[in-house]
Amino acid sequence: MTLDIQLAGRIDQQSLFHPFTAITDLKADGPTVISSGKGVRITDIHGQEYLDGMAGLWCVNLGYGREEITEAMAEQSRKLSFFHAFNGMSIDVTIECAEALLKRAPVPMARVFFGASGSDANETQAKLVWYYNQLRGKPEKKKLICRWNSYHGSGVLTASMTGLPGMHAPFLLPMGPIVHTDAPYYYRKAPEGMSEREFSRHLARELEALIAREGADTIGAFFAEAVMGAGGLIPPPEGYFEEIVPILRANDILLVMDEVVSGYGRLGTYWGSQTYGLEPDLITSAKGVTSGYFPMSACFISPKVWDVIESNAERAGLFGHGYTYSAHPVGAAAALAALRLIDEDNVLANVQEQSDHLFSSLRARLGDHWAVGDIRGKGLMIGVELVKDRATKEAFPMANRTGRQVLKAAAKRSLITRALGDTLVFAPPLVINRAEVDELVEKFGDAVEAVLPR
Ligand SMILES: *Cc1c(COP(=O)(O)O)cnc(C)c1O
Repeated sequence: MTLDIQLAGRIDQQSLFHPFTAITDLKADGPTVISSGKGVRITDIHGQEYLDGMAGLWCVNLGYGREEITEAMAEQSRKLSFFHAFNGMSIDVTIECAEALLKRAPVPMARVFFGASGSDANETQAKLVWYYNQLRGKPEKKKLICRWNSYHGSGVLTASMTGLPGMHAPFLLPMGPIVHTDAPYYYRKAPEGMSEREFSRHLARELEALIAREGADTIGAFFAEAVMGAGGLIPPPEGYFEEIVPILRANDILLVMDEVVSGYGRLGTYWGSQTYGLEPDLITSAKGVTSGYFPMSACFISPKVWDVIESNAERAGLFGHGYTYSAHPVGAAAALAALRLIDEDNVLANVQEQSDHLFSSLRARLGDHWAVGDIRGKGLMIGVELVKDRATKEAFPMANRTGRQVLKAAAKRSLITRALGDTLVFAPPLVINRAEVDELVEKFGDAVEAVLPR
């Protein structure tokens, strides 16, 4: 490495345009420059170690530095570093990977389509919804219902699908046939005194009204994360999907589950769809499929959708969609190694165990803190929403940037978290152990109390 450690921060600022970063914050604080990782820990360029409570960006599910994955990638890279699956070409390792993925699908799935990111995968799904309905002779069934607070990616279409106004206005989005419906944000959006069940029913009525307003014959699909991630760590209230799914079925609307975060064990089941008893028509996965070791996405296509595509193949001709990296052999090798480790390491059982421990430890440590409004989540996807007043749920003034202050206080204690507004989020590697969970809670408790003294 030739990078001068002392100058790294300055060179960063002179050369790198950071994603999802406020330039003013970067100027004020400088970047945290990470250079290595092992297990649940990462180390910065000055040798300071951190416990990574976010598994990178919800993706390094098996932890850093897993030789089983890096060796598989190195070996594949030496053997065949690239080839593609356009025009009837294929690759042995990619075939093996597709088969392994189908075997693990939550419901019988017919095909896997590969890409390089969650954004491109959701874009594929949207196009498949249109393709499918066009082949069925229903080209007007085009609109995509997405939810406020959802996150589906950063492309023009997927940022439009995403329900975060901050990702719309600066880029003149949303664009495309997209309608947003309410977020299942029980803590903030449920009227006073309403139970979770009642709130789910209320959201279902809202969805029905939206469908009636727009016309069911104009709507192609409903996109949902199992637990909302980047939009505020929002698990569905009790009965939510039970209420929603029959409405979709009755109106011939496809269910697309965005399992980019919830797939591959994060919620304690292999898929979020299993946690909530869902049978999606399409599933988007990315992030954890290679544990973040290689940029890769995998879209699952159900027999219902595939049968329409296949039976109309002659008429349709060439399927004019795909990415250069839609079958990348190194990604496939990384995924195969990661899938094997998920099975061999008993990851699901560990998620369930550490999730219980993390929830109960957070509640024990912070449950009675005056500023802790809500501790919520599922599996190893947990959010702590901080408020100025627990009784009224009044938020801190935005300008205080309370969440960010706590994030910085945590970093000072060598813990990485993420602030979604004033909701602090944890999604650690799924292989985290009990002692590491204890350390996380200890450091986070100290950080909250440092910013918001008892
Ligand atoms: C991260 C994420 C995406 C986008 O994935 P990229 O690889 O960043 O394009 C889509 N959906 C969800 C739920 C995500 O968390």
